[in-house]
Amino acid sequence: MSLFSRLFTEKCPKCQQKLVLDTNKQSYSMVVKVCPENHYEKVYHPALESFIEIEK
Ligand SMILES: [Zn+2]
Repeated sequence: MSLFSRLFTEKCPKCQQKLVLDTNKQSYSMVVKVCPENHYEKVYHPALESFIEIEK
C-alpha cells in the first residue's frame, strides 16, 4: 500500500472517524487531513514523502 492511499484511509485515533481534507490549509506543497471533531491532524508533504501527525 502506498503512502498516498494510506493517507486516505486514515482514521482519528481518538474517535475513529474518517479524516477529512482541510481545504483551508491545503496547498500545492502539502495535504492536510483532520478529524471532523478536531482531535487529530495529519499533514503529508509530497516533496519529502513524509507525514507529520499531530494529536490534539
Ligand atoms: Zn477524532
